[in-house]
Amino acid sequence: MKTEDPTGRPAPSGGSAPARAATPALSSLVTEVARRFDERIVTASLPVYRASTVLFDSLAQADATGRATGAGTRHASTYGTAGTPTTFALMDALAEVEGRGHDCRAALMPSGLSAISAALFAYARTGDHVLMPDSVYGPARVFAQGMLAGLGIETTFYDPRIGAGIEALMRSNTRVVYLESPGSYTFELQDVPAICAVARRRGAVSMIDNAWASPVFARPFDWGVDVSILPLTKYWSGHADTLMGAVVVREPLWLPLWSAVRQLGICVGGDDAFMILRGLRTVDVRMRRHEASGLQVARWLEGRPEVARVLHPALESHPDHALWKRDFEGACGLFSFELRRDALPADDAGLERALAALCERRRFFRIGYSWGGFESLIVPGRIGSLRTATPWQGGPLVRVHIGLEDPADLIADLADGLAAMRAAS
Ligand SMILES: *Cc1c(COP(=O)(O)O)cnc(C)c1O
Repeated sequence: MKTEDPTGRPAPSGGSAPARAATPALSSLVTEVARRFDERIVTASLPVYRASTVLFDSLAQADATGRATGAGTRHASTYGTAGTPTTFALMDALAEVEGRGHDCRAALMPSGLSAISAALFAYARTGDHVLMPDSVYGPARVFAQGMLAGLGIETTFYDPRIGAGIEALMRSNTRVVYLESPGSYTFELQDVPAICAVARRRGAVSMIDNAWASPVFARPFDWGVDVSILPLTKYWSGHADTLMGAVVVREPLWLPLWSAVRQLGICVGGDDAFMILRGLRTVDVRMRRHEASGLQVARWLEGRPEVARVLHPALESHPDHALWKRDFEGACGLFSFELRRDALPADDAGLERALAALCERRRFFRIGYSWGGFESLIVPGRIGSLRTATPWQGGPLVRVHIGLEDPADLIADLADGLAAMRAAS
C-alpha cells in the first residue's frame, strides 16, 4: 500500500506493519479520506453529488452496470455523464410530477433550448418531416431552419390555431408534430388533444414545449402528448439563477431519447440539479401568486387607453379563452399586450423612442429575457420577421413577466411607464 516517501523520510511505522494500520504519505492520505459519509443521517433535502468517476467493486459489476446504462435502466450509471444520485432524484421527480398518472421517464439537459434540440434529434431522421406552430419559441424555429434543415429534415410552420385541421399538413414522412401552447409572445392556444390525436393516428410523435403552464397548471400527458419539453430555467427553478431543461417522455419512447443523450454527451451537474429540486418544493405556492398578480395587472392594462388588447389566456377577452378553461388549471405570470398604433409615433425611430420610454428606468420591471423567476420583466415583442404562415397583423407587442412583487407596486410602475411613453410620443 505504502509508497516511498519522495522526501526520503523514514516510513513512520518501519514499513512492515499491515497496510491499513500505517499512516500513508500525505499525498495518499488526502485521496483516501472523506470518501464516504454516514448514510444513517437523513436530511430533509438530498445531498449534492458532484461526480465524474463512478467506482465499482469488481469488473463484473462494472460490465453489468455498463450494459444497464446503455439499455437506459433506471439509476444505472457508469460515469457522471450518465447520472448521479442527485440527477437521478431530479429525473424521477420530473417524471413523476410532469407525468402524473402516466408511466414516464425524464432526461436532463443543460438548458431548455438543448431540451428542444435533443428531443428533435432523438425522434427525427434525415428524410423526415416536422410540423411546428408559427408561434413557436424563436430559437426553436432557428434550430429547425438551421441544423434540422442541414440534416435533410424539413419543417413546415403551421397556424397554431389549426386544431384537427393539422391532418391536411401531415405527410407520409411526418415524424414529429411539435406544439407550444400558448405561443411565444402572441399567446395563441392550441387544441392540443385534437392535434395529438391526429399525430397518434398517423404514427408521428407529438411533442409540446410546456414552459408557460409549469407543472402546476397543465398536465400535458393527459392531453395525449408523447413528449413534454420543460425549460426548467423558468418556473421550476423560479429564481433566475439556474439554467436547465428536461425532456419527459412516455416510457416506450425512452430509449431513442436516452440514446441521443448518451451520443451527444448531454449532462448536467449535481449543483444545478439540486437547485431545480429546491425550486420544485415551492413551485405550487409561487405559481398561485404569479397567477393572481398577473391577472390583476392584466385587467388593469385592459382598461388603459394606450392598450389595444391584452393577450392573456385567462382573460375572458382572449380569443382562445374557452380552450384555456377546458385544458389548463391556471395561468402563470407571463403575457403580452398590444399597444394602440394611434397612441404611438408613426415613424420607426419615434416608435423605438416611445418603447424605450415605456420599458427603461422602471423600478420593478427590468429589461431582460427569460422569465419565471421572482422578478418582473418587460421586453418589446419583436416578432415581425419570425412568423411565416401567419404574419402578425397587430400593433407593437410588449411582453411582461409578473414576478412576486406586490401587484399594486407593479401597476404604479407600469402607469409611470405608459405616462413616459405618452410624453415621448
Ligand atoms: C425560455 C424558453 C425556452 C428555453 O429555455 P432556456 O433554458 O432559456 O434555454 C424554451 N421555450 C420557451 C417557450 C421559453 O420561453
